[in-house]
Amino acid sequence: MRICVSACLLGQRVKYNGGDNLISGLAERLRGHEVLPVCPEVAGGLPVPRPPVELARGRVLTADGVDKTDAFHVGVEAALAALDLDGVGVDLAILQSRSPSCGVNEVYDGSFTGRLIPGQGLFAEALAARGVRIVDAAGLDTLDL
Ligand code: SF4
Repeated sequence: MRICVSACLLGQRVKYNGGDNLISGLAERLRGHEVLPVCPEVAGGLPVPRPPVELARGRVLTADGVDKTDAFHVGVEAALAALDLDGVGVDLAILQSRSPSCGVNEVYDGSFTGRLIPGQGLFAEALAARGVRIVDAAGLDTLDL
C-alpha cells in the first residue's frame, strides 16, 4: 500500500514547538509499504517553530487572533500535490490526533483551553473528501496492515 503518514509521527521535528510525535515502532510496522511522510504545515512554507493555532468558525487562528487560514490552505494543497492523488494515489493516511491540520476524529475548539470537539483538521478533511481512508494515530492498535 501507499500510506501517507503525518511526518511528526515518524519522528520528524516539524511540530509547531519544534518537537515531534514519534510513535515508537511505527516505521517498522509499516515496513513493506510505501510510506509517504507529509507535514502539510511545513509543506506550505510555515516555519518550525511557529505559533500554535486552532480552528474556529472555519478559520485558523493563533491565540491572539492572527489569521493563518490562507497559509494553511496553501499547505494542504502543496501536501495533496506531493501525494499525487490523481496519479498513483494513496491507499491510507495515518494522521496525528487533534491537530488543526491532521486531526481525524476531534480537534481543539478554538478557545485554547484544551477543550476538544468532534471535527477534522484541514488536511484530514481534504484527504477524506478525495476518498482517502484516514485513520487517527490513536487507533493504530486496531488497524489491520
Ligand atoms: Fe504533525 Fe500534521 Fe502538525 Fe505537521 S501538521 S506537525 S504532520 S500534526
